[in-house]
Amino acid sequence: MSVETKNKTYLNYVNGEWITSLSGEVKTNRNPANTDDVVGSIQLSTKDELGSAVVAAKVAQKKWRNLSGNDRGAYLFKAADILESRLEEVAKCMTREMGKTLPEAKGETARGVAILRYYAGEGLRSEGDVIPSTDPSAIMFTRRAPLGVVGVITPWNFPVAIPLWKMAPALIYGNAVVIKPAQEAAVTCAKVVECLEEAGFPKGVVNLVTGSGSVIGQALTDHPDVSGITFTGSNTVGKGIGQGCLARGAKYQLEMGGKNPVIVAKDADLNLAVDATISGAFRSTGQKCTATSRVIVEAGIYEKFKERLLAKTAEITVGNGLEENIWMGPSASEGQLNTVLHYIEKGKSEGATLLAGGNRLTGGDYDKGYFVEPTIFENVSPDMTIAQEEIFGPVIALIQVNTLEDALQVANNVEFGLSASIFTTNIGHMLSFVEDMEAGLVRVNSESAGVELQAPFGGMKQSSSHSREQGQAAKEFFTSIKTVFVK
Ligand code: NAP
Repeated sequence: MSVETKNKTYLNYVNGEWITSLSGEVKTNRNPANTDDVVGSIQLSTKDELGSAVVAAKVAQKKWRNLSGNDRGAYLFKAADILESRLEEVAKCMTREMGKTLPEAKGETARGVAILRYYAGEGLRSEGDVIPSTDPSAIMFTRRAPLGVVGVITPWNFPVAIPLWKMAPALIYGNAVVIKPAQEAAVTCAKVVECLEEAGFPKGVVNLVTGSGSVIGQALTDHPDVSGITFTGSNTVGKGIGQGCLARGAKYQLEMGGKNPVIVAKDADLNLAVDATISGAFRSTGQKCTATSRVIVEAGIYEKFKERLLAKTAEITVGNGLEENIWMGPSASEGQLNTVLHYIEKGKSEGATLLAGGNRLTGGDYDKGYFVEPTIFENVSPDMTIAQEEIFGPVIALIQVNTLEDALQVANNVEFGLSASIFTTNIGHMLSFVEDMEAGLVRVNSESAGVELQAPFGGMKQSSSHSREQGQAAKEFFTSIKTVFVK
């Protein structure tokens, strides 16, 4: 299938049809690596159009929930095959729309396929427990009921995987969905919805409405017929969504920011630690919620680690992620680039020492996009802004400490608690880290970014509303338990 979209406008998908918004307003998305490259346009829909999607979903859900899990799973298996057959096209669209390199985009799309298959299989797994009653003539058990209509609000940084790891469990457990993807990557998400359409889901079960967060996202959050909102994005927006849902008694799930530390102990395998730091901090241009942003190193090996880290950073090739031999793409948008540059200035003005990078890349093809150098600061004190706030860009704050106790204290001294890693060969150090680290994802001798799809995903503290996504854990959010007593 062709990847050229010729500035096609992607429509809303409501009640099984592609619908033109009456607003007449569109947003055109361009390749952040080359702004001459137009990826496509999305509609800025109205609140009423969102309302129509919710009504369609509400009607459709009544039949959808009565299908067997096996029958619902068949649609997901089919969607997986279709997405797999369009993998190259979808991945190219992702690279053009938000800038991650093509190998990364292909990896993410393949993960989307695997997520669909995983949850397709969930349709045949057990859904409740039998609980012994004190009355020998009674039967007591639990059943899982779907929530009803689930609103899905997603960010731009994983435009295939995040929509699917929310929609696939929502659907398999009998909910209908209305998705509002981030405008910045909504063309890629529309292609995912095309795959779901092609899989033949009954009309109204899957709905897509594009538009701004403050209009469509807000209307979804406030809609009385939406029983649950699953959101991934920034803390500011997430907190507002949480409050809105709480006010009307809707269920909500918020996955938000991170300020993820890597601790490098004196006894670490240094090459492993350096490679994992580079990958965790700079892959996807640092635009992952689990990206490494603070590297806390024990004094004894600090200089050696720094030297190797700088040497590896110097090898990173930055450019258009569609091209071969490019390791790091651009920031996803001009706004994102400016945020990164703002934090780099902040680091300098607060007294950190710039060791590598620090600049927007300019000249030649760089002038067509939003490129920034992979950046490393040292002499960062734990209370500096660049050691506290999420940057969401390729910036490392190197922090030297005297002991592993100090390292853990610094690692925990932030408001976030999403992901954290330690590099050590000492089992005792591993175990104390696992015990004392305040993070939902605790990783040993492995980079901070990434977790397998069958495992629970989510954070502590301000990173999450403390529910978990992925794997079996998703069932907790997308269903309610009914306790049944039969006499
Ligand atoms: P964002 O600005 O919070 O946007 C996320 C989504 O919320 C977008 O679809 C946005 O719409 C929508 N939105 C904005 N205002 C809204 C409102 N008032 N009501 C309802 N929805 C609204 O986040 P982002 O910039 O796209 O993504 C980056 C953030 O996501 C980072 O903080 C990152 O850490 C976080 N993230 C977390 C995880 C995780 O699993 N913990 C994973 C990936 C990313 P528009 O943008 O289209 O207006």
